[in-house]
Amino acid sequence: MQTVSKPITPAVLENIRKDFPILSRKIHAGKNGSGGKDLVYLDNGATSQKPQVVIDVLEHYYKFQNSNIHRGIHALSQEITTEYELARKTVQKHLNAAHDYEIIFTKGTTDSICLVANSFGKKYIKQGDEILVTGMEHHSNILPWQLFCEEHGAVLKVVPVNNQGELDLEACDRLLNKQTKIFALTHVSNTLGTINPVKEIIRMAHAKDIPVLLDGAQAVPHGKVDVQDLDADFYCFSAHKTFGPTGVGILYGKEKWLSVMPPYQVGGGTIKTVSFQKTIYADLPLRFEAGTPHIEGGLGMAAALDYINKIGLDQIAAYEHDLLEYATDKLSVIPGLRIIGTAKEKAAVLSFVVDGTHPMDIGTLLDQQGIAVRTGHHCTQPLMAQFGIPGTVRASFAFYNTMEEVDKLEAAMHKAVKMLL
Ligand code: PLP
Repeated sequence: MQTVSKPITPAVLENIRKDFPILSRKIHAGKNGSGGKDLVYLDNGATSQKPQVVIDVLEHYYKFQNSNIHRGIHALSQEITTEYELARKTVQKHLNAAHDYEIIFTKGTTDSICLVANSFGKKYIKQGDEILVTGMEHHSNILPWQLFCEEHGAVLKVVPVNNQGELDLEACDRLLNKQTKIFALTHVSNTLGTINPVKEIIRMAHAKDIPVLLDGAQAVPHGKVDVQDLDADFYCFSAHKTFGPTGVGILYGKEKWLSVMPPYQVGGGTIKTVSFQKTIYADLPLRFEAGTPHIEGGLGMAAALDYINKIGLDQIAAYEHDLLEYATDKLSVIPGLRIIGTAKEKAAVLSFVVDGTHPMDIGTLLDQQGIAVRTGHHCTQPLMAQFGIPGTVRASFAFYNTMEEVDKLEAAMHKAVKMLL
C-alpha cells in the first residue's frame, strides 16, 4: 500500500493503482475472459472505487468480528463497539470537528440532509419562514427542503447561478434575510465542478445569524475539509464517494444545534429509558442513530479516510487539478464540444455537450471503448433547465486516474463524434 505522502508522480500513481483491484478489470471481455478493453473509470462523482484496505476491513469484519455494537457484554461486541467508536474519532479528526459526538453516522449525504430538514426544520422553521438553497443543488439538497416547505408552509428560495456555473454572491447576500432560517448549499457541484466560496458565504450568513448546511458529497473525496475553519453548522458526506462502502455517511453538526434538535428517526439505540408514559432519549450522538447501523460500513469508511490521508489530501487536490487542466485542454479541441461549468474554482469534473449529439449516445459509444462516464441530468434537473439542455456527459476524476486515461477519453470522443455526425 502507498504510505508516503509525496507528490503523485507517475511512479507513485502506478503503486496507488495497484491498491484498487477493480482498476485492472477488462470491460466487455469475452465469456472466457479474453479480449475486452481496459477499464477507464471516470464516474467517480457517482461512486468511487475501493482500495484493498477497505475491502479487507469488510471481509475481516464478517469473518472474525461480526456482532452488534453498543449492546453486548461479550468480547466480540465489546471489540467491535470500540472499533466503531474509533471510526467516529477518525471522521472527527478528518473533518477537524471539535467533538466526536458531533459526528453522526447516517446512510449517506441524502440521509444526513433529510435528518437536518426534519429535525432542525421541525424545531426552528415555521410557516412563512424561508429556506435558502442554490440553483446548482443535487436533488438530495432540494427535495428534503421542498417537502418540508410543502408540509409546513415555509418558502424555498434559490440563489441564482451564472452562465459560468458560479453563484451570484450579491443575490445570495440579498436573499439571506430575516425570514431565512437555514442556508443549505453544496460545497462542490457534482455537475459543474464549481467549488463554491463556502467560507465567505458562511461568514455572510452568520453575520445575519443564519446557520449553514454544506453538502460535501463532492468535496470530501478531493481535498481537505475543516469544519471549524469553515465554521459550518452542518456538513454532510457519503462514504461511497470517498473510497469507502455504500450505505453509510456522515452528518457533522455543531453541538449547539445537535444538542437541542429533536430526534428524527427513533428506535433501538436512541434512548436512555422507555416507558409507555415517557421516553428519555440518549445523549449525542446516539439520539440520532436509530437501529443497528452499517457497522462494517463505518469501519470501512475510517479505513478509506486513513488511506487518503496517507496519500495526502493536498497531493490529491494538486494532482486532480493537473488532471482537470489536462482534460479540459484535450476535450476543448473536439469539434462542437461545449463544457458546461467553467467556474474559476473547479474540482476535477468535466461536464460537456456536443452540438448535434445526445449525451446518452456519446456515453454508450464511450462505454464500448471501456470508458465509464455518467450521462443525463446528474440529479440536477433545475440546472439542466437553466442551461437549456436535457443532460450532459460527465467525466469525473479521482486521484487514481491517469493522463493516459484522459488521452483515451479524447481519442474515444473523436471516434464517437465522427460516428454520430
Ligand atoms: N449531493 C451531491 C452533490 C451529490 O453529488 C450526491 C450524489 O451524487 C448526493 C448529494 C447524494 O449522495 P448519496 O446518494 O450518497 O446520498
